[in-house]
Amino acid sequence: MKIICIGRNYLDHIKEMNNEVPEYPVFFMKSENALYHKNLPFFIPDFSKNIHYELELVIKICKTGKNIEEKFAHTYFDAVTVGLDLTARDLQKECIQNGEPWEKAKSFDFSAPLGEFIDLKDTPYPASIKFSLEKNGEIVQNGDSKNMVFDFRKIIAHVSKYNTLKTGDLIYTGTPAGVGQLNKGDKLIARIESKELLSLDVK
Ligand code: ZN
Repeated sequence: MKIICIGRNYLDHIKEMNNEVPEYPVFFMKSENALYHKNLPFFIPDFSKNIHYELELVIKICKTGKNIEEKFAHTYFDAVTVGLDLTARDLQKECIQNGEPWEKAKSFDFSAPLGEFIDLKDTPYPASIKFSLEKNGEIVQNGDSKNMVFDFRKIIAHVSKYNTLKTGDLIYTGTPAGVGQLNKGDKLIARIESKELLSLDVK
């Protein structure tokens, strides 16, 4: 399976990072060993001094597809949850400055903690999914899928031009504003609406 991540998909986050609004979905990938979904503690790796959390909605692909048309794209995912796209911001800056790919900043081990999935089978296309991240008792990120620059269908249509999507693939669909640094001792709780789907203790 593969993990596809969309960058720059919420205007408020694009603004906080001083980036331009993209004309098409920007994506990158994480390796399978980025996954982390047993609510285990996360240990800050020693190669970074600035690991950021990015809370994102994650959809799960339920059938194989290539060149998927936007109008059929909603039939290619059947579950949603929240996940964290953990990013070594210091290494990412270095990579960007040096014109290097981002993998060491984005695709390190356990850089993609994943929540429990909510089944979307037999439900209509979800036009609005509200999600939030609580850090040490305070809400630090609030998002709504209706504010995505590219919605789930546009993302699936675009990515599947280049990469055949397969059952079990995951798409992290971008983060809203409020990203920030993780520190030892932090406790994160991620929710869709009021449902707690992911918790993470940082060590
Ligand atoms: Zn992200």
